Amino acid sequence: MIVSKFGGSSVGSAKNIKKVIQIISEKQEKTTIVVSALAGITNLLLKAADLAVFSDKGYISVLNEIQEIHNHTIAELLNEQYQKSCKDFVEEQMNSLKDTLNGVFLLNDLPNKSADKIVSTGEILSSYIIYKAIKDKGLDIVLKDSRELIKTNSELDNTEVNYMESYKNINSFFTKNKKKNVILPGFIASDEKGLTSTLGRGGSDFTAAIIANAIDADLLEIWTDVSGMYTANPKLVKQAKPIKQISYQEAMELSHFGAKVIYPPTIQPVLDKEIPIKNTMAPNEIGTSISTNKNGSRTTVKGISHIDDIALLTLEGNGMIGVPGISKRLFEALSLKKINIKFITQASSEHSICIAIDKNETDVAKDTVDKQFEFEIIQHKVNPLIVEKDLAIIALVGDNMKSHQGISGKMFSALGDNNVNIRAIAQGSSEKNISAVIAKKDVKKALNTLHATFFEDHIKLINLFIVGIGNVGGKLLEQIKQQGEFLLNSQHLIIRVVAISNSKKMLFDAEGIDLSKWNSELSSKGERSDLDLFYNKIIELNLRNSVFVDNTASDRVPNYYADYLKQSISVVACNKIACSSAYNNYKNLKYLSKKYNTSYLFETNVGAGLPIINTLNNLVASGDQITEIQAVLSGSLNFVFNNFNSETSFYDVVKQAGEEGYTEPDPRIDLSGVDVMRKILILMRESGKEMELEEITNDSFLPETSLKAKSIDEFMSTLKQEVAHFDDLRNEAEKRNCRLKYVAEYKNGKAKVGLQYITNDHPFYNLAGKDNIVLFYTNRYKDQPLIIKGAGAGADVTASGIFGDIIRTGNK
Ligand code: ADP
Ligand code: ASP
Ligand code: MG
Repeated sequence: MIVSKFGGSSVGSAKNIKKVIQIISEKQEKTTIVVSALAGITNLLLKAADLAVFSDKGYISVLNEIQEIHNHTIAELLNEQYQKSCKDFVEEQMNSLKDTLNGVFLLNDLPNKSADKIVSTGEILSSYIIYKAIKDKGLDIVLKDSRELIKTNSELDNTEVNYMESYKNINSFFTKNKKKNVILPGFIASDEKGLTSTLGRGGSDFTAAIIANAIDADLLEIWTDVSGMYTANPKLVKQAKPIKQISYQEAMELSHFGAKVIYPPTIQPVLDKEIPIKNTMAPNEIGTSISTNKNGSRTTVKGISHIDDIALLTLEGNGMIGVPGISKRLFEALSLKKINIKFITQASSEHSICIAIDKNETDVAKDTVDKQFEFEIIQHKVNPLIVEKDLAIIALVGDNMKSHQGISGKMFSALGDNNVNIRAIAQGSSEKNISAVIAKKDVKKALNTLHATFFEDHIKLINLFIVGIGNVGGKLLEQIKQQGEFLLNSQHLIIRVVAISNSKKMLFDAEGIDLSKWNSELSSKGERSDLDLFYNKIIELNLRNSVFVDNTASDRVPNYYADYLKQSISVVACNKIACSSAYNNYKNLKYLSKKYNTSYLFETNVGAGLPIINTLNNLVASGDQITEIQAVLSGSLNFVFNNFNSETSFYDVVKQAGEEGYTEPDPRIDLSGVDVMRKILILMRESGKEMELEEITNDSFLPETSLKAKSIDEFMSTLKQEVAHFDDLRNEAEKRNCRLKYVAEYKNGKAKVGLQYITNDHPFYNLAGKDNIVLFYTNRYKDQPLIIKGAGAGADVTASGIFGDIIRTGNK
């Protein structure tokens, strides 16, 4: 004999009910079918009752909705000839329900018995309709009302089952029953007076277990809409996987913390039986088997679950220390009001006790606890109860966690890295669970972070939000697309571009923008770009391992860096404005990145993709001191002076450099030397020197007219006019047998930038194209400097430097 329970999700529609019938019809053994109400109906019934008790006529339209759902299912499920009688049955039940609710409406009172009667309608209707449908298919079946079999004790709690009486009734029915299949409504029972009672939310599991135990069934199957108990709620964590085998205790912990796929206390009666949890929509999948065997698996963390809508109550006060009986009184007061405590922590000083309860019970709890401690509150020994809402509990569960160190450390650092603030922590004394109270808005991120940490083979997902998708940004997207597979295989890294924005439009896709058509998607689906909105959307998405990338030269975008860092969102920028702005601002950003344990990386601020800043950081971190820097740091100026010869005009070379993407959008920034000043400033700051841009000496090679130009166009035309000035510079260099290089120097605490005549014995002499070179003289590299040389401008190398920084955010 088999007992098969089908939950509301399995009988939510005619299509699903047909799957149930298919499963039943394939069974050889005698089968008892326990069904829940159609999906969502119990909640609608409770909603109707709630409206009625507060004299809200809205309950009538809820009733109509309920009737409509059932009639629609009947129409799709049954042959025409059976439909009428079935719809009549629904009508009859709905009328009786309407009468009860009308009474509730008039009296403004909802006694337990009426509530039970109202909510039982769901299972009464579902069992009848499904019974008709199975019979319609020609199967041998009888419908039995569970209220005639399962008895509860009304003196005590509603869910207190009178097992002796119930087992007697069940056995006597099944001994006489000759049908192959029996169908019963789950969840409902009756008390000794014969009045309808219920077994608590999710109680159909309980009905099935009671029957399975009474008749000593060979198997109790729980059919639902997922393929078993998962490592986390599959509706929130895409990567969650079904757990093949789970101990009863683990299942109990997981379900206590919200994995409602099964409610294990209800299956306690049948613990020694095999209990598979299977998916009605995919009957051939293995599912989960619950057993008493604790040593079945060596995995430490078995699953992660959560409960939404939690409130945290804190009782604290100086008068609590060492006073016996405070917690007893607290818990007694709550228990008298039947408030279920989901979580407890107590500071060892006994100065405060923290408990979590369902948020709907907060008002009652606050009231009862403040009354209980009224005297102490007046005397200022205890403070009025502190209530915090909009919270949730997340929990790691596993029998084997206790024998492994470091699990909670790993849990909390993963959450911390993603800016999930933890309000309270509790570790069950059995060490089968570690749970934490967090903000409700962080649940999805926390579950996914923990799932990735404990279950996903250490694959790391980085979520990117990119501002600036021109030359450099475009190349970056191309490189990310190209390297996707390699990064996954070699570094276990997935880089997902969630948002892109240029100055006109922005596009978000939480699942990741398709990089093969980002351009067309941006123009067809993008919305007007707005930096505030961009920030707000990122916060709202609240994704783990988020990285903000600034590929612009804008002076507005860096204003947001601090806000991002404060949310533990890493910042990667090729924009050098922030690092070369006021020292305090630079320092503050570095400080925030430390404080929020997040990355602020800007390798491409100096020398594009060359590892200059990283090398400098390593030197400093290992105790070296930078004494002098000599560098050619402008790829643009180098390109300009290397290509400036007797055949070309200075104007033409500058124009060409702009067209090939070697200069800043505004060439004045390069030619005035400001760009190089910024770069040497950043190197000095990274070497540990507190310095401002104004302290750097700049000997400009530009003529007065160019320096005064008010626009880019005006500036370019001065370059044309001043042919003689630039030719003089070149002729002088040729005369001296030198080459022109724009050099940045830092020595004896002072810095300067300017054009220099470089002789042919100098390392800068042969610097070709747009190359950069940096010579670091340090305590360790005294006589021979540490030299870094290579392409220092260009979209491709800059993008690859940014890409490197993005990967580094993932390795912190
Ligand atoms: P039924 O209607 O069959 O009783 P429930 O809705 O009560 O089904 O429970 C199944 C649901 O439990 C799933 O659809 C899923 O959203 C949720 N759930 C939460 N945590 C888990 C988990 N760890 N594994 C599987 N399902 C989970
Ligand atoms: N229909 C009831 C509920 O939603 C019982 C169950 O589904 O198990 O709680
Ligand atoms: Mg359920």
